[in-house]
Amino acid sequence: MPNAMRPAMHPDLAEVLFSGEQIQRRVRSLAGEIKAAYGDGEFTIVSLINGAVMFTADLMREIDNPVRLDCIRVSSYGHQTKSIGTPQIVHSLTLDIRQRHVLLIDDILDTGKTLQLVSRLIQDLSPASLRTCVLLDKKGRREVPIEANFVGFEIPDKFVIGYGLDFAERYRNLPCIGVLRPDRQTTAGWVSG
Ligand code: 5GP
Ligand code: MG
Repeated sequence: MPNAMRPAMHPDLAEVLFSGEQIQRRVRSLAGEIKAAYGDGEFTIVSLINGAVMFTADLMREIDNPVRLDCIRVSSYGHQTKSIGTPQIVHSLTLDIRQRHVLLIDDILDTGKTLQLVSRLIQDLSPASLRTCVLLDKKGRREVPIEANFVGFEIPDKFVIGYGLDFAERYRNLPCIGVLRPDRQTTAGWVSG
């Protein structure tokens, strides 16, 4: 694309890792991998909000199986860029998933604590099966032994934002995924409300 046509990079990004178009292409191929695993059968998508909203919405639209959707909210980073302490469930499931095939979706697999916590919660509810899908995987950061069944992209240990991923609830609406500039990793000077 000629430079004049290229949308300007958000000024708070140090670099763009994946453009909106690259993400959409990978989401479509991931949907193909997921359909190959489930065949034509029904399954229940459990999405970890808020981070996985964009990914879940786009992925679901590429899948024509009968699907149900539920969401779980896990305590967030707050205004930090590193996982601290143990994640907590803030809001749990509404649907009954007993004897149902479940696909758990998160935005990013980092230390693995979030996916491990929610996987255990789901397993305790006796689903017919549980598979996991993450858009991004920071493999080098794992603190607990867990891998996802479906992974969009592996990324290095950098704090990323966009396409649902936030810093202090901002930047979720960027269509691309990029690395937040270190000098922007502060909320000092932000207008609240
Ligand atoms: P884990 O429990 O695996 O350490 O962390 C998973 C959660 O941490 C993700 O659901 C996501 O909310 C958050 N997280 C981990 N790495 C990043 C990152 O680079 N950027 C953002 N915005 N969130 C992240
Ligand atoms: Mg999250």
